Amino acid sequence: MEIKKKDIRALTKEQLRDFFVKQGDKAFRGNQVYEWLWQKSAHNFEDMTNVSKETRQMLEDNFVINHIKVDTMQRSNDGTVKNAVRLHDGLIVESVLIPTTTRTTACVSSQVGCSLDCKFCATARLKRMRNLNPDEIYDQVVAIDNESKLYYNRPLSNIVFMGMGEPLMNYNNVIKAIDKITSPEGLGMSPKRITLSTSGVPKMIKKMADDAVKFNLAVSLHSAIDEVRTTIMPFNETFPLKDLKESLEYWYAKTKRKISYEYVVWKGINDTQKDIDAFVKFCKYVPCKVNIIEYNPIDDGDFQQATNQALEDYINTLEKNRIVVNVRRSRGKDIDAACGQLANKS
Ligand code: SF4
Repeated sequence: MEIKKKDIRALTKEQLRDFFVKQGDKAFRGNQVYEWLWQKSAHNFEDMTNVSKETRQMLEDNFVINHIKVDTMQRSNDGTVKNAVRLHDGLIVESVLIPTTTRTTACVSSQVGCSLDCKFCATARLKRMRNLNPDEIYDQVVAIDNESKLYYNRPLSNIVFMGMGEPLMNYNNVIKAIDKITSPEGLGMSPKRITLSTSGVPKMIKKMADDAVKFNLAVSLHSAIDEVRTTIMPFNETFPLKDLKESLEYWYAKTKRKISYEYVVWKGINDTQKDIDAFVKFCKYVPCKVNIIEYNPIDDGDFQQATNQALEDYINTLEKNRIVVNVRRSRGKDIDAACGQLANKS
């Protein structure tokens, strides 16, 4: 019977050191291997050149490295790159590199599919198969960092958890991945350059505040009126705006960090003055900034980008109320890499 080998990256550094001691080796060997696994992102034990051949064979006999594989990579006319990433069990997720003149951002996935059912989102049509492991999230970042260096001659500068899945439904693994990304023993990136984007799970927003996380928080709001939000994001019925508001107040009281609201304006859905007024009122609960995101169609006619006039009305009213607002043009639309379009179609 074949023995199922353990994923070596599921071990902490301490566990790896203990493993080597139990093998009659030095604990220090654990540090060396740990460095290969994370900082140097080794795909094979063979690559660990400062470890003896016998030790590499012993590792090979006991463990696997479940590294992701970039199955296909597509480049958009605007320079956006989309990776379809194959996981060790054959499932696929997508991640995206978004270059601008000043930064390169990785948009990474946290789940295979999604358990939530936002009506405007292509990922929602894929059943949630499983959560990603910390190393699978980490590997997506490493792959994009390498592509950034290759195509844009600079390392990755920012990360957003805005790909497939709701990151707060895979909280522990997302936090472990971020720990590795920010650790000097991993990629050493500043948490200030990382944004977790959630559809708004109040209990978990409070938990993040209690855990004193150092990264940024963005909330996909899209409506500040319960009835409207529930039609486009049905889980709003379980997590209504009142609870979301309370959790965001809690977040700000604890972290003193502004929240970003992601907001798409659709024709006939949330483009009236009543919608704008409700949003402005919501924005006043805690210090925030607003990203109005251009809508990316996903093959059905239910959702259409609002008129320019409706967008201007939003922007003007927000600005009149001294709320910082940015308009995000869509990137990578031609390769289905834009926000809400990730659906494993490539
Ligand atoms: S928008 Fe995000 S939370 Fe909503 S279904 Fe899509 S991936 Fe899930």
